Amino acid sequence: MTADGAYDLICIGGGSGGIATARRAASHGARCAVVEADRLGGTCVNVGCVPKKVMWNAAHAMEAVQRAPDYGIDVRAGGLDWATLVSRREAYIERLNGIYARNLEKSGVDLIRGEARFVDPHTIEVAGERYRAERFVVATGGVPGRPNIPGGDLGIDSDGFFALRHRPESIAVVGAGYIAVELAGMLHQLGSRVQLVVRREAPLRSFDEIIREAYVESLDGHGPELVNRFTPAGLEAGYGGYTLHAEDGRSLEGLEQVLWAVGRVPNTDGLGLEQAGVALAEDGSVPVDRWQATSVPHIFALGDVTGNAFPLTPVAIAAGRRLADRVWGDREGRHLPYEMIPTVVFTHPPIGTVGLTEAEAREAYGDDVTVHSTRFVPMEFALAPQEAKQRSAMKLVCVGEEQRIVGAHLFGTGVDEMLQGFAVAIRMGARKADFDDTVAIHPTSAEELVTMP
Ligand SMILES: Cc1cc2nc3c(=O)[nH]c(=O)nc-3n(C[C@H](O)[C@H](O)[C@H](O)COP(=O)(O)OP(=O)(O)OC[C@H]3O[C@@H](n4cnc5c(N)ncnc54)[C@H](O)[C@@H]3O)c2cc1C
Repeated sequence: MTADGAYDLICIGGGSGGIATARRAASHGARCAVVEADRLGGTCVNVGCVPKKVMWNAAHAMEAVQRAPDYGIDVRAGGLDWATLVSRREAYIERLNGIYARNLEKSGVDLIRGEARFVDPHTIEVAGERYRAERFVVATGGVPGRPNIPGGDLGIDSDGFFALRHRPESIAVVGAGYIAVELAGMLHQLGSRVQLVVRREAPLRSFDEIIREAYVESLDGHGPELVNRFTPAGLEAGYGGYTLHAEDGRSLEGLEQVLWAVGRVPNTDGLGLEQAGVALAEDGSVPVDRWQATSVPHIFALGDVTGNAFPLTPVAIAAGRRLADRVWGDREGRHLPYEMIPTVVFTHPPIGTVGLTEAEAREAYGDDVTVHSTRFVPMEFALAPQEAKQRSAMKLVCVGEEQRIVGAHLFGTGVDEMLQGFAVAIRMGARKADFDDTVAIHPTSAEELVTMP
């Protein structure tokens, strides 16, 4: 704190964005505090990326065991002890919570426990105490949304998925975004009977067509059952389980559980942003400019609460660190451009994507766009019976005569670990010829990206 008892920076929210911003600002000499109402680490550590990846790893291990007989290995998946998996996962997360607290301490950042509320543009109140700061960062994230229909409060959301203490025998996962397809896939691999319920023809509408098609094709007999063109109208609980009704009169009956994955709501309720004069968007998110500034210049916002197009942990972290470097580290102009952001969807197999989809590129560049794509069965499945062979798909979207790569869209085993390096090259302006000139690594799936016709 400064002599008058004020901080240079208070970050509201001890999740990915808030912690990263405060620690970076403190490394530049700023006196900082983080306010957290719940467990440190926020969504990612407690009810997002981390527990999800643990569940995906478990599902992946199950898949590997199921495929082992293709190689003459005599094993059988003997079932899953869900309770053991969950308790080990939670113990791991508790360790992470502790590491986050120690890291704040080591960085000299104060941790204030409780719910923050603005009382004026330079003052917040937490648990009855008032704290002042020269600048604030609002990094309060979001919470799972639910549909406004009868019974919309029944069933669970993604937070409820992580609270499950046993595996549901049957579950409908409602939603078409990445969280819906990920949770549906994991539950399927771990042995639940899963119906993936989407309002339109297929999930993942914002993804490139090749991904959408390959994903839907992969479900056939090997993934959750896709229930499409189903707009939920109500959810009813009865002795035989839940019944999910559609607007067109169809219903799904006898469900042990229903999981809503229908979008997330920015966490601004009760934050008193209006007391500070901060303008909010209609959906409750906090609009910011490219410097992460809100309508009040000394109050910044970043991460999921801003409703940015990439609600991802590394995006919140990058925005926060760059803001801190600019304001306290004398690195003028530093900010995060929200483009060429790579991301992975942990389906089975996974999806990796960076840059523009073909449709977006055609809208921006018209006939200047060229596309290269391939579909193949990865060698991992060479010995698998025909009906078990998984197919991969890859597409490069290029622009101009020099064929600068502006988008890469990958589906298949291994792409989750493959994308990061390619994203570096693409961000640096790689052209198709650079990919073609790179010697392939054989035999891998990755080589398909540098040997594409
Ligand atoms: C199921 C799921 C899976 C995901 N998987 C991935 C993934 O694989 N990869 C990836 O990059 N991203 C993933 N995400 C997204 C990622 O978790 C978020 O983008 C990231 O956590 C956003 O960080 P943030 O700092 O904006 O907010 P958060 O991490 O949500 O942190 C906000 C914090 O603010 C606190 N808070 C809120 N209001 C107040 C208040 N008034 N006072 C004090 N504290 C307050 C909250 O308790 C919370 O701890 C996933 C999300 C979900 C839900």
